Amino acid sequence: MDKADIAGDYIEQSIELALENQRNRTTATSDDPYCEECGVEIPAKRREALPGCPTCVECQQLLEAKTRNYR
Ligand SMILES: [Zn+2]
Repeated sequence: MDKADIAGDYIEQSIELALENQRNRTTATSDDPYCEECGVEIPAKRREALPGCPTCVECQQLLEAKTRNYR
């Protein structure tokens, strides 16, 4: 297995985990105000605007960039 395969698996897994977390968090949004990627506290305004969002703005943008590259 080469490095590209490993990276692809890892990204795929991350996306699946993120989607699962988002699903789990739609009912319980306020218990975890910290970004699941970097651990920084997500601003209350962002959590109000995007209930259940598991990441801070920076990580969200990184994740979206990765998703775009992956496709
Ligand atoms: Zn973050």
